[in-house]
Amino acid sequence: MPDPEQLRDHTTLRLGGPAKQFVTATTDDEVIAAVRSADEAGQPVLVLGGGSNLVVADEGFPGTVVEVATRGIVPDVEDDEATCGGVLVRVAAGEGWDGFVARAVASGWTGVEALSGIPGSVGATPIQNVGAYGQEVSQTIASVRVWDRVLKGFRTFAAADCGFGYRHSRFKADPGRHVVLEVTFQLRRGDLGAPVAYAELARALGVEQGARAPLADVRTAVLGLRGGKGMVLDAEDHDTWSAGSFFTNPVVDPAVLPEGAPAWPQPDGRVKTSAAWLIDHAGFAKGHGNDRASLSTKHTLALTNRGPATTADLLALAREVRDGVERTYGIRLVNEPVLVGCEL
Ligand SMILES: Cc1cc2nc3c(=O)[nH]c(=O)nc-3n(C[C@H](O)[C@H](O)[C@H](O)COP(=O)(O)OP(=O)(O)OC[C@H]3O[C@@H](n4cnc5c(N)ncnc54)[C@H](O)[C@@H]3O)c2cc1C
Repeated sequence: MPDPEQLRDHTTLRLGGPAKQFVTATTDDEVIAAVRSADEAGQPVLVLGGGSNLVVADEGFPGTVVEVATRGIVPDVEDDEATCGGVLVRVAAGEGWDGFVARAVASGWTGVEALSGIPGSVGATPIQNVGAYGQEVSQTIASVRVWDRVLKGFRTFAAADCGFGYRHSRFKADPGRHVVLEVTFQLRRGDLGAPVAYAELARALGVEQGARAPLADVRTAVLGLRGGKGMVLDAEDHDTWSAGSFFTNPVVDPAVLPEGAPAWPQPDGRVKTSAAWLIDHAGFAKGHGNDRASLSTKHTLALTNRGPATTADLLALAREVRDGVERTYGIRLVNEPVLVGCEL
């Protein structure tokens, strides 16, 4: 028997014990066959992309892990074909997200450039409606093609049927049911990016918020901003041994908003505030923790593995921060990464 695959070798936190069974699937047929045979055997299934939004228990996963490693980026029109409309691009779930963004920027496809530098796979992006610097994938996704494990068949959801919200979707609401096989993006064509919707990015680009900047400049500026916060993977830098932001920004009643906290008004009258601000002002500075697990030294919102951490160490830190914020402000932070075999 070969040694079991360790999930710490497949997660950006570098945490997680052994998988009972581990399958790398390079075609849709292989993905579906692996998922179906586990389902028929009554085995739990974990669909794995880049492991950048996962906290896996030290005990590992007692079922089949299906790593989606499918490839393909297929635009409906060639780059040199003159079209006044946009381009529809079909992307296989296993494609690396940032490779796709780089391709989009190089091809003059606009709408995902502010999402540069986010790790993981294309297939995972609709799950939590990935977003950063004023863009979300829900703004450019046309449809998502899945294998439905309950109906045992293929389904294609138009964007309007994906239930997208802030770090949310119908896929996240019904965990594990839909295996994403392909995402189709509707992108405009041009040399300028979409209007810059995020003040910090606009400042970095030297443009007004709402103005446009060259696509390549937007990508460079975003990668620079993210790098300064330890939000671009770097094997040498423990600040990036994380799952990105560990907590979502809470949406609260304006009456409970702490004085001085950032407030972004929501359509329902509530306000979204900054989890990083709450953590910092509740007394957890950058680097808080110990030599196993600590907050990033560059960003309070990332919980990081300093090298020897276990999942138990990381969760202990997460509980300390969550409970400290709740004691101070009465606001309970909710984890963004998916917890597998463990809980907060
Ligand atoms: C340094 C860093 C920075 C980050 N920055 C951001 C950011 O700015 N914005 C943001 O939104 N996120 C960010 N993240 C989080 C993460 O990168 C995204 O959520 C990403 O989309 C996860 O992709 P993945 O392939 O690694 O998914 P995984 O971690 O492998 O899986 C995450 C979840 O999606 C499911 N899943 C994965 N692939 C599929 C599939 N094909 N079909 C069905 N389910 C699937 C898994 O089962 C799991 O539930 C960051 C993470 C890191 C480490």
